[in-house]
Amino acid sequence: MFYEERNRAFAELDKKRMRALEEARLREKELEIKIPALKSINKAVASIGPRLLSIGMVGDKDFESKSNALYNEHEQLIEEKHRLLSENGYPTDYDMPVYSCKLCNDTGYIDTKICNCVREAIAKRAYYSSGLGKALENQSFDTLEMGYYAGTTESGASVREQMSFVVEYCKAYAKHFSTGSESLLMIGGAGRGKTHLASAIGREVIRKGYTVVYESAANIVNAFEAERFGKDINVDTDRYYNCELLIIDDLGTEFNTQFTLSVLFNLINHRIVNGLSTIVTTNLSLKEIENNYKERIYSRLSGEYTVLPFCGKDIRRLKKDTL
Ligand SMILES: [Zn+2]
Repeated sequence: MFYEERNRAFAELDKKRMRALEEARLREKELEIKIPALKSINKAVASIGPRLLSIGMVGDKDFESKSNALYNEHEQLIEEKHRLLSENGYPTDYDMPVYSCKLCNDTGYIDTKICNCVREAIAKRAYYSSGLGKALENQSFDTLEMGYYAGTTESGASVREQMSFVVEYCKAYAKHFSTGSESLLMIGGAGRGKTHLASAIGREVIRKGYTVVYESAANIVNAFEAERFGKDINVDTDRYYNCELLIIDDLGTEFNTQFTLSVLFNLINHRIVNGLSTIVTTNLSLKEIENNYKERIYSRLSGEYTVLPFCGKDIRRLKKDTL
């Protein structure tokens, strides 16, 4: 899976590099038409490489003086070329390839190391196949605005302090995520940043190379229904079972039937039994989970998951008010 993604990223980069080279070649042709003197200069520049190869090997008699002469010749040719380009109102790098990655010139490698642009491309594809694509731009740990967490909780504790703890906990969780990391239950009213933090964790975990699937509880239940009742043969519910981190967003908004309850229980239970991590976010309180779901789901969530209570005011509403 990883190698497949890596090969795909390299193939795409290769296409970009070829395009950059082809476009540079076209600009070189354009220049040669407008400034005919460039033609012989370009030809001379192109001959330097083969001539350098033909003068022998390092250590041979005259090797150094001959290669120095060629380097000087090359330098003078380039100077002359730049002069002509400037005189005619062109930037001196006009016929140079413009690569999408300036670090590796779209080769994917810096020396023998794989360039970051390849990793980014792999991560980006993973974001989109995880369902986190939309959250990619705006839901990271960096974009969380702690300023909205103010005031005190019902029990008189500082909202900022409690939420700082939750945020730090999530950051550490993402940083140290590995197979077998604990599961999290993010609990609290709407607009307290649960989805934001769950997405931020997903984002970091993807970057570490793990498979992540992010989906609302309603969509998960719909997918199992579609599969069960043959409405859609393209649904892939296996990924909910197999991915290394599953984020079930907004538990409690799905329509609950006998069938959906057993789907959720099987999924949550399967992941616990197999040591796979899950993050569940919900607007429901523990009491409401106990009332709305069967005892077996409640006992898994309250007993096996680490509960992170989100407090404060509805951030979405606060943001709207300040617009
Ligand atoms: Zn690169």
